[in-house]
Amino acid sequence: MSFSNIRIVLVCTTHPGNIGAAARAMKTMGLSCLHLVSPCDFPSGQARALASGATDLLDRAVVVESLAEAVADCEMVIGASARVRGISLPLANPRDMAAEAIGEAARGQVALVFGREDRGLTNEELSLCHRQVHIPADPAFSSLNLAAAVQVISYELRVAAGAGSEGAAEVSVSDRERPVCSEHMEDYYRHLRQTLDAVGFFKSCNPDRIMARLRCLYARSRPDQSEYNILRGILSETQSALQRRPTD
Ligand code: SAH
Repeated sequence: MSFSNIRIVLVCTTHPGNIGAAARAMKTMGLSCLHLVSPCDFPSGQARALASGATDLLDRAVVVESLAEAVADCEMVIGASARVRGISLPLANPRDMAAEAIGEAARGQVALVFGREDRGLTNEELSLCHRQVHIPADPAFSSLNLAAAVQVISYELRVAAGAGSEGAAEVSVSDRERPVCSEHMEDYYRHLRQTLDAVGFFKSCNPDRIMARLRCLYARSRPDQSEYNILRGILSETQSALQRRPTD
């Protein structure tokens, strides 16, 4: 069982012990690729103590400054949320998420993203995700410890990767092209915003809100390379047409 295309991303973790415990949780389930976005205290003796025999994951952990950097080469980014947010990203339970993630990982990079201990992921960080996963818990107390959440998700990934489930997961990706990676979609969103601005689309509405809705739309459909080329082409032609238009 190889999880080489699946990474766990911990965003701005405050307590180094949680990084160590998350590494241990991952290793027990066969996951090994850990990315840390601006951890408050790392490397750390406390992280090593809680990692127990999983310090090799800490030694190989990739440390970056932003979530965008951590997922730039990913085709599927899944945010784990203790609360169900207003933003209308597709919401999955851990079992369905794991089946989809394993299917996607057969062909491209997949990231599972976990937020800060005190306030989770920001809306901006969630806007980089294609899916949200929520571990069903008592609605009156639904926030798991960070490493415990990593454990549940890692376990589901292991179960989904087990005998008998690969075939089902493969079907979802086999008959379509691979989606373009996050970095390209960020280029697209910049281009789209520029173009909508140039045609005067944002006149009476809030550009950030419109872009957030559009991101959700594209996160649901996840364009492949040829669809992406068409979308970029439409924007480029729109901009050229605007330049040709006689100024009034
Ligand atoms: N107080 C924060 C919870 C942070 S817990 C909040 O309200 O958002 C730290 C991280 O663990 C979360 O950002 C999330 O990634 C993960 N987590 C905790 N409980 C979870 C749950 N029930 N489902 C999915 N992820 C969860």
